[in-house]
Parts: sequence; structure tokens; C-alpha cells
Amino acid sequence: KPVLGIETSCDETGVALLRWQPEAPGAGLLAHVLYSQITLHADYGGVVPELASRDHVRKLLPLVREALAQAGLTPAQLGGVAYTAGPGLVGALLVGAATGRALAWALGVPAIGVHHMEGHLLAPLLEDDPPTPPFVALLVSGGHSLLVEVADIGRYRILGDTLDDAAGEAFDKTAKLMGLPYPGGPALARLAEQGRPGVFRFARPMTDRPGLDFSFSGLKTQVLLAWQSSAQDEQTRADIARAFEEAIVDTLVIKCRRALQATGATRLVIAGGVGANRRLRAALADAGAREGFRTHFPRPAFCTDNGAMIALAGAMRLAHGQHQGEAVAVFPRWDLETLPPP
Ligand code: ATP
Ligand code: MG
Ligand code: FE
Repeated sequence: KPVLGIETSCDETGVALLRWQPEAPGAGLLAHVLYSQITLHADYGGVVPELASRDHVRKLLPLVREALAQAGLTPAQLGGVAYTAGPGLVGALLVGAATGRALAWALGVPAIGVHHMEGHLLAPLLEDDPPTPPFVALLVSGGHSLLVEVADIGRYRILGDTLDDAAGEAFDKTAKLMGLPYPGGPALARLAEQGRPGVFRFARPMTDRPGLDFSFSGLKTQVLLAWQSSAQDEQTRADIARAFEEAIVDTLVIKCRRALQATGATRLVIAGGVGANRRLRAALADAGAREGFRTHFPRPAFCTDNGAMIALAGAMRLAHGQHQGEAVAVFPRWDLETLPPP
């Protein structure tokens, strides 16, 4: 039976319906709809938690109705409800959790709280030719930069983490300091396409020593200094964006290669918002072709937050008999390694 997936951890309200089928999970996707709050937060230059919660309240049920209509389903046909239970903004999470839990209770079906990063990690399974474990996952998003060893679905070991800014956060902050409007990450990436290679060069942080952790906050300072002492014209901004993007991409490629060597894995999964970055996708696909590992990306719309990945992770766990009690529980901070195997 189809599972309803609800994502409200940050500034995107996502809803999807998915019927679990292990061999080809993507073929079970019946509908997915998304509402982004970007314009709501733009004036503030970042996500305002209270505004985010209130907007989820406004948009969530209309989106649930829209998804059901898209799939031609009635609520009574649902077999379960999955909602993001963490990590994320507590108020935003509570909207999805309370709504999801209440719907499940009213329909008499089980509900499950999904780990947002497990959602991101499993998103590539929605595409053709889904990856099979073991693999290494690079999760690069607005709040996380993780390298994860996936021995099996649900069995995760963190190999590397960021010591400061996440990769997406670095994109957003760097864009902001060069005057790009919020949210800057995708805009900075677009600008980088007009940048000339080699005009600026920034460090590849923490690649000169062993280890799989990341640190991106120093790059921001390098960009600030370069920008402040430049002519600050459009071409310079694009040239700096290009050099910044190359530094991040290079660093991620180096660390992925190391993680694959350390684990002996031959498959690499890339997910999270920064996974939508074209230069990153091309660089990792290239490295894979040269060095003999396979790369799996979700389509760009499933790299950033969406309901489909939550429906997928939830449906997978519900199919294995896992579910939540009747309490509404959210976990603003939640370690991926503590998840039970399905
Ligand atoms: P988390 O998943 O860690 O809780 P989040 O949900 O806010 O954080 P996502 O929605 O997965 O993050 O991703 C959003 C991030 O991805 C933003 O920081 C954004 O700048 C970045 N991003 C989106 N598209 C691109 C792109 N093409 N190039 C680089 N960064 C991008
Ligand atoms: Mg977002
Ligand atoms: Fe996310």
C-alpha cells in the first residue's frame, strides 16, 4: 500500500506518495510535490525558524491533498505515513511530525519518523539502476558534509565530517559575502560557469594531511580577502566563484577517493543539495570512469530537500515492520550512526 512521505525539516515543504518495491524503488513513486519558502526568507538573508514553521502549517495539508489528487488516491488507501523527525529546525519538524502522526492515527495506519540524512542518502535509489550496498555515500547539503560507509541499508558508519561549515553553507555564505542574494549557493554555481579558470586559486582545505574530515570556513575568508582587494566587477565575481567552486569540488573528490580506498568500496553515492552542482557531478563521474568506481546521483530535484526521499526511507522501514509509537517525537540533533538496521 502507498506510504505518504512528509518533509518539513527546514524551508521546503515536500510531500510524496510511494509504494515500496525493493527491486526498483523509483518505479513505486506515485506523486511528489514541493513548496519552497525561498521568497519568504529572502529579505532576511537566511531561514527564519518561526516563519518557516508557520508556513509549513499553511502549506502542508494543501500539498497532501495535491499529492493524493496527482496519484488518484484517497486517504483511506494509504498504508502508512513517514515524516522527517530530525535533524532540523525543531518547530518546522514538529509541524510535519504532528500532522503525519495525526493522519496516521486517524487512518489507523502505522507512522514512522525518518532521519532526514537517511532520506538524502537513499535518494539515489529513486533513479534507474539503483546502487546496491556496500557503498560510500558523500552527503553534502546545507547543514552537513559527511562521508558515510554504508555496509547495508540502515547500517551507517561516519568516516568523515565537517569541523565547521557544511559544503552547502560554504556556498551560501561565500555567495552572500560577494553580494549575491539569498539563497546564494545555486546562484554562485551559475556565476562560476562564466568564470575563467586559473585567475584565482584557493586552497584545498585539509587535503595535505591524512583523514576524511572537512573544513570549509577558511575558504570563505580567502574569498573575502580576494574579493575585497579586487575591482569587484562582474567578471571578477565570476572568476572568484569559479575558483571557489573548483576548490570545493577538488576537495570533495580527493576525500571521496580516499574513502573508497579506505573501505575497498567500488560504488559512490552522492546526495544532498550540493550534489546538484554540475561541476561536482562531472568531476566525480570523471574520476569514477578513470579509477574504476561507479557513481550514483539522484536527479537534481531529489538532491535538495523533497518528500520523495522521506517516503522512500519511511516505506523501506515500514516494510520491515518498524514504526513509531503514538507520541509525537522529533530530534533536532540526531546521529545517523544510531539508527537501527531495518
Ligand atoms: P541538511 O540536509 O543538511 O539538513 P538542507 O536540507 O538545508 O540541509 P539541502 O536542501 O539538502 O540542505 O541543500 C541545500 C543546500 O544545497 C544549500 O546550501 C544550497 O546552497 C546547496 N545547493 C543547491 N544547489 C546547489 C548547486 N547547484 N551548487 C552548489 N550548492 C548547491
Ligand atoms: Mg532548503
Ligand atoms: Fe536536506
